[in-house]
Amino acid sequence: MQSILIIEDEPELARVVRSYLEKAGFAVSAATRGDMGLRLWEQNQPDLVLLDLNLPGMDGLDVARAIRRKANTPIIMLTARVEEADRLIGLELGADDYITKPFSPREVVARVRAVLRRSSASVALPQTIKVGELEIDLESHTVFRGEESLALTPTEFSYLVLLSSQPGRVFKRDQLLEASQGVAFEGYERTVDAHIKNLRAKVERNPKKPKLIETVFGIGYRLKKD
Ligand code: CA
Repeated sequence: MQSILIIEDEPELARVVRSYLEKAGFAVSAATRGDMGLRLWEQNQPDLVLLDLNLPGMDGLDVARAIRRKANTPIIMLTARVEEADRLIGLELGADDYITKPFSPREVVARVRAVLRRSSASVALPQTIKVGELEIDLESHTVFRGEESLALTPTEFSYLVLLSSQPGRVFKRDQLLEASQGVAFEGYERTVDAHIKNLRAKVERNPKKPKLIETVFGIGYRLKKD
């Protein structure tokens, strides 16, 4: 049984989401404060965290950072504003997805499933892809630049693998989204862009002048053919 940790200070919201997730077959734990949530995360090591942004005790951003310092547990941020959410994913935070309030509990369950599928899709053929100075290990889901291992989130990894599968081919944003098993929703294009931005920050020598992942204006992205 996969386990979900909800960190949300609105008790009614947490209760409804919890009951939907439990009906969908997940084991659910919950905290109403950021600091308590982080402690629960350490204790339970859940498969995924649903994390509210504004929390008493410890801010959602700080909770996410604290988790990211130690592990790649998938995180879905719960937030009231789309603009805010863009910033969340765009910043160094590395949240895997976000859901804006108000949301339907069904949507939460769908997103949780999608993000979990994405992060557990690690049963791949033992194989490595070489891209420029990068080496992508499809089995262990790690990317190396020389000896250095780059810490990509499951979403970033799936984008890089798709782009690398056919260097030179342009992939549209919805194709990238599909590859990461994402669910199309309003504003998803910006989510894809935010993930690409994070990915570049990790794989490009100079993310401001990307040499590996090119933007094809109005269409999408491609991996540069060398
Ligand atoms: Ca809140």
